[in-house]
Amino acid sequence: MKTTVAVERCDSYERDAVAEAVRKCVGHLGGMANFVKPGQSVLLKPNLLRGAPPEKAVVTHPEVVRAVALLAGEAGGKVSLGDSPSIQQLAATLPKSGYAGFMREMEIKAQPFEDVREVATGLEGPLRNIEVGTPPLDADVLINLPKLKTHAQMYMTLAVKNLFGCIAGKRKLGWHLKAGRNYEYFGRMLLQVAKAVSPALTVVDGVLAMEGNGPNSGAPREIGVIVAGTDCVAVDAVICAMLSIDPNVLYTHRAAREQGWGVTALDEIELKGVALDEVRVDDFAPARKNDLILPLPAFAKRLLRRLFTSRPHVDAQACRLCGECMRVCPVEAISMDKRVKIDYDKCIRCFCCQETCPHGAIGVKEGLLARMLG
Ligand code: SF4
Ligand code: SF4
Repeated sequence: MKTTVAVERCDSYERDAVAEAVRKCVGHLGGMANFVKPGQSVLLKPNLLRGAPPEKAVVTHPEVVRAVALLAGEAGGKVSLGDSPSIQQLAATLPKSGYAGFMREMEIKAQPFEDVREVATGLEGPLRNIEVGTPPLDADVLINLPKLKTHAQMYMTLAVKNLFGCIAGKRKLGWHLKAGRNYEYFGRMLLQVAKAVSPALTVVDGVLAMEGNGPNSGAPREIGVIVAGTDCVAVDAVICAMLSIDPNVLYTHRAAREQGWGVTALDEIELKGVALDEVRVDDFAPARKNDLILPLPAFAKRLLRRLFTSRPHVDAQACRLCGECMRVCPVEAISMDKRVKIDYDKCIRCFCCQETCPHGAIGVKEGLLARMLG
């Protein structure tokens, strides 16, 4: 049987417009009562990368989260909300991101993912077991609420990638370190996290998306959609089709195809709501490609990496020397004196620094030859 993905237009974050679009999308999937039974615990997992005003398009917009919480509450669920930002405490991100008011009004409890449980991934190598926060594992119903954004390391952060936030805060850096530059392997691990927490429903905030230097400092871009589905791999495939992006550029999509988990082919997805052609975007600015994995001797790889691959680049004018990038770098490639310096030989191009910089001072710079060759 085909899986369903629903797309509805939503051109603003005006409360009633968002509630209507979310209600229609969830309605196409059978309504919230299909997912939430009275008395069940419901955990909402938005993208709260860091505390940031909603207009920056860094976090899932509070109106989208509120609309989903309202439906889950109407269905009789006991709603809480959790995420695990890499640097800040969850409690600090909520007021900055516009969540505190509606959470207080609706009596939604915040659940940081501090306690973890080890989950076997079925992968060989250092990511054989991963530690996942217990709230997403133990909730009766997990609802995944991603923001539609680009991502320097993973190309896009959509439904599957948003679930990496189920790993407790700073432990994420350890997983980056373990995966190193092997992004295929990292993509497989992300898929395993999605499998482990297995959200019942995904509702994507694609009203104001982020393009370019995502997931932290890209440019907000109006796309004007809410997308929902039960299969997060299929949701990602539909969003890629809508943005005219080949879904195979996503490491998570390739991992899903390889493992036969989730629906990757568009012809196996039933689309409901507006037709994709009505919301298609042909000029979405992607994140830059970031690394080169070739079977070459180390010195040759180093040279080619410098010439071809993208790397984090600090804008000294914008940098406020806060040191956050230095604290998150999993390989200690960053040092700071009167300015921030990056040791590119050590750097594994995980882009945690770019993702974390609170002042948008880290961009992604293409290698010289890559620039010359276009
Ligand atoms: S996180 Fe950003 S602002 Fe802070 S030191 Fe690093 S580059 Fe500078
Ligand atoms: S410098 Fe930035 S991109 Fe490089 S390893 Fe450190 S955090 Fe990752």
